[in-house]
Amino acid sequence: MPASPTRLRPAWRHAVTLTGVAAAGIAIAQAGPGITGLRPVRMRAFRRLAGQGDPGHVALTFDDGPDPASTPQFLKVLAEHEVRATFFMLGSMVTRAPGLAAEIAAAGHEVGVHGFDHRYLPARTPQATRCDLTRATELIATVTGTKPRHFRPPYGVLSGPALLTARELGLTPVLWGAWGKEWATGATPASVLRTLLSDLDGGVTVLLHDSGCTAPPGAWQVGLGAVAPLLDECERRGIAVGPVSEHGLH
Ligand SMILES: [Zn+2]
Repeated sequence: MPASPTRLRPAWRHAVTLTGVAAAGIAIAQAGPGITGLRPVRMRAFRRLAGQGDPGHVALTFDDGPDPASTPQFLKVLAEHEVRATFFMLGSMVTRAPGLAAEIAAAGHEVGVHGFDHRYLPARTPQATRCDLTRATELIATVTGTKPRHFRPPYGVLSGPALLTARELGLTPVLWGAWGKEWATGATPASVLRTLLSDLDGGVTVLLHDSGCTAPPGAWQVGLGAVAPLLDECERRGIAVGPVSEHGLH
């Protein structure tokens, strides 16, 4: 089991070893009999964790910001399309750009928690996990004036202590069902769009990144280039796009 952040870099590339759905399985396995005891309950929890929601809706999510170098350009494209999304923020990034975090919330986007530091939770102690998530959640709530409701763990990997802390903080963990793989070698906006569209059923949660802080150079620009075509395609298919909070997860 990898333990150091250095060995995990680049973060997005490492994450390819776990799809959102596979990670959901791990998370539920660690959640104990409270979730796994009854099959209907387990299936509902699995779908919710994988971000599978309303069939007529796509949840659009961005991780790793807010980043003054890139996030404003994502906000601009979303505003042009009159689309709101969920931004899973890192506390470490919010401390550097609190005004931008507030701007995201003021624009009507949902703010979610991605942790304080971008670290692999199963390698952290229960106490460190609790401190990290609590600190990030309180910071994001203070800066944005909004209480976050959703949590996405770094690398899409949960742990028992993370699940317990999230529950105490009133956060629902949500992974994803489609991602752009902007970090892949040779990725282009067209390849990101193709990758996303291959999984773009109604009800899916889409993962992109509004910051390159954990990614190879150029990755966020590639992702940015795919946003407008993705939104255009959703409109053509008659699928509404919005934040996780409006995705019908239950
Ligand atoms: Zn991340």
